[in-house]
Amino acid sequence: ATTGPITADGDMPQKKFYRQRAHCNPLAHNDSFQYPHTVEDTSWLAQHYPHNRRPTVLDCGCGFGGLTVALAKALPEEVIMGMEIRAKVTEYVRLRIAALRSESSTGSSCYDNASVMRTNSMKFLPNFFPRGSIQKLFFCFPDPHFKRKNHGRRIVSERLLTEYAFLLVPGQGRLYCITDVQELHQWHVQKCNAHPLFRRLKEEEIKDDPCVELMKNETEEGKKVTKLGGDNKKGEKYYCVYQRILDAEIP
Ligand code: SAM
Repeated sequence: ATTGPITADGDMPQKKFYRQRAHCNPLAHNDSFQYPHTVEDTSWLAQHYPHNRRPTVLDCGCGFGGLTVALAKALPEEVIMGMEIRAKVTEYVRLRIAALRSESSTGSSCYDNASVMRTNSMKFLPNFFPRGSIQKLFFCFPDPHFKRKNHGRRIVSERLLTEYAFLLVPGQGRLYCITDVQELHQWHVQKCNAHPLFRRLKEEEIKDDPCVELMKNETEEGKKVTKLGGDNKKGEKYYCVYQRILDAEIP
């Protein structure tokens, strides 16, 4: 663990780091999210990337950003956005990406294609991203919300799947879910199977997709499950990958 500055390895910060940074984080004490009022407004992009390209890959609930930075390296043609609701965690990921960018500014992979934003990704996605603009959507180890009365707070739901289908490129866009909670995995499969705009990809269709290994092994939660066994105590990681079908295939 480190008290800062953040290293490119993404060592977890200690509490002291948060206390030190709190005063200079503009969002730390402000609960109102900032989001564009129309999707045509692209002024926010300049805060995130040195180019003006829109994000094509979203890591929803990115936590400490392990997957976000791994995707940036593995998919240099794509533009990655980590989305995180906790201000201090978002600030940590921002500094982690800044450190990676400055460390690798002479190399080929300079992480200019990665950024992070603080937002509630259950609420504002269509304000940021146009229809059919997203290639990949990740939901890695989301909060399980075990109690029945809280199931409506799960990040995969019938209503939100319709929103995700709206954002994903028809016939190409992929939605990835991974969890160590078997019951939540069954929920993901049940909701996605029931949705008319998604088709589950078979193992042979995803065997060459590098993102599957990345979501299993590069997320901080995935590493934790490998080491400590996770909710199921066996180190089991349950995942599924779905494709957004073509509009012409809609039954
Ligand atoms: N995906 C990361 C990983 O696998 O290591 C983090 C998983 S962690 C269990 C879930 C993360 O999602 C937390 O960092 C939490 O703050 C964030 N989160 C929960 N609800 C969210 C929301 N509505 N929008 C954005 N982030 C959210």
